[in-house]
Amino acid sequence: MHQFIDGTRRAPSSSDAAAAFAVTNPATGETVESVQLAGPADVELAVQAARRAFPDWSGATPAERSGALTRLAALLAERSDELARVETSQTGKPIKLSSEFDVPGTVDNVAFFAGAARNLEGKAAAEYSGDHTSMIRREAIGVVGSISPWNYPLQMAAWKILPAIAAGNTIVLKPAEITPLTSLLFADACADAGIPPGVVNVLSGPGRVVGEALVSHHDVDMVSFTGSTPVGRGVMRHAADRAARVHLELGGKAPFVVFDDADLEAAVNGAVAGALINSGQDCTAATRAYVQRPLYDGFVAGVAELMSTVRVGDPLDPSTDQGPLVSRRQQESVAGFVDRARADGAKIVFGGEIPGGELARGCYFEPTLVVDADQRSEIVQDEIFGPVLVVLPFDSDDEGLRLANDTPYGLAASAWTRDVFRALRATREIRAGCVWVNDHIPIISEMPHGGYRASGFGKDMSTYSFEEYTQVKHVMYDTTGQQKKDWHRTIFGDRTAPTTPQGVHES
Ligand code: NAD
Repeated sequence: MHQFIDGTRRAPSSSDAAAAFAVTNPATGETVESVQLAGPADVELAVQAARRAFPDWSGATPAERSGALTRLAALLAERSDELARVETSQTGKPIKLSSEFDVPGTVDNVAFFAGAARNLEGKAAAEYSGDHTSMIRREAIGVVGSISPWNYPLQMAAWKILPAIAAGNTIVLKPAEITPLTSLLFADACADAGIPPGVVNVLSGPGRVVGEALVSHHDVDMVSFTGSTPVGRGVMRHAADRAARVHLELGGKAPFVVFDDADLEAAVNGAVAGALINSGQDCTAATRAYVQRPLYDGFVAGVAELMSTVRVGDPLDPSTDQGPLVSRRQQESVAGFVDRARADGAKIVFGGEIPGGELARGCYFEPTLVVDADQRSEIVQDEIFGPVLVVLPFDSDDEGLRLANDTPYGLAASAWTRDVFRALRATREIRAGCVWVNDHIPIISEMPHGGYRASGFGKDMSTYSFEEYTQVKHVMYDTTGQQKKDWHRTIFGDRTAPTTPQGVHES
């Protein structure tokens, strides 16, 4: 059963639930599991379960919430092998990526939020006005309706669920319908760790039906969404109708800027790894390499040579570097970008094709290197979400930085240089939520992840994400006990002097 509502797995209740939907292994085309999709009635059940659970969960002590998350981290660590295997079977990502990045990263995130749950930040209580004591309460928001994508299903579920529940909210998560399985395993582990029923709910359902019903629901206090920019804009419109808080992690088109003093070999290794990780289906993937003219030819030759050594194949084989794309639809979309770029006059230096032979039954696409594309063309401007790196030359530092900022997105970027002043300038001027220097991709639980501009707003991970999932209340106590306050003179003029009521001792 593929709905997790009120602490337990169940079948969809809606009479309007869709017929069975096959979660498919994109490496083989075989069905991994057949899923009965949720419908709007399940959204209602899940939101009401989350609503019922909110008073007790938000009223639990930080130590109690932290304890549950500590147990959750241990359970997920014990279940690592199963999580990695299921993640690979539903997404096609190489098992070494699932087992060395997705699963341990998720466990570390849970452990981090177990600690962060006990570390809510705020200003010191004090007499900022002479007549009052002010204090800050940082409070949970309520029921969070959350939507996640298919590229890192387990990690995205963790990024959405953890800060929300660590801060005392309850949540209904809708993962992408093509990859719901590890989000459900995560929810099972939440129940086994003693997180009360209703705090975490997971609905396997289609975006248009279940996603829209969730983000439009009047009893959902906050909407958090990770996915593409066009769908994110629609989600924001629905939330705007009732002025609900919105948190958006959207698409990316990360630039990879190589200055002429860079370590060429390091940059080539970084570009290939940064472009091909997760078959390029990574919102921070290196997609546009801008290389200063003196290094350009060497960089293109180095990337082509290194791409030729990448082992594309069975994701369950521990030696595989690149698996298939997540679906036939994604494969066709990536192939379309490359075909149109070719027709537009860009040159494919390496790859660019759907592989044949053994790999034809899966949704594979070759590692691909494109040059001679126009800065204004879609292959440079739009998110491809596939194993495709476009390389363009630049002359001056000004030009390189200008081109890096020349798309609507602003999620991540990297600068490659051994000159500290160039690095400082690049990190200052590139408009993105993360800028790496001499690396590209690493993330860490303690540091925020989130976009600028069309890549969205709000942060995942880190204590910054608590600011998304909490609201700040100012509480102000009168310290004078006066029945007519000093400031009342702005209303009453100077007619009356402040009085002191009986029982309040003047010192
Ligand atoms: P998508 O926008 O198509 O779908 C994301 C989620 O939204 C899915 O669960 C889908 O079912 C749901 N959805 C679709 N239509 C909806 C609607 N009308 N109303 C409500 N929900 C709806 O994205 P995708 O193809 O699953 O994922 C890839 C995208 O996610 C890329 O753009 C990638 O950059 C982005 N992404 C961003 C981050 C980040 O942190 N910024 C992380 C991972 C992925």
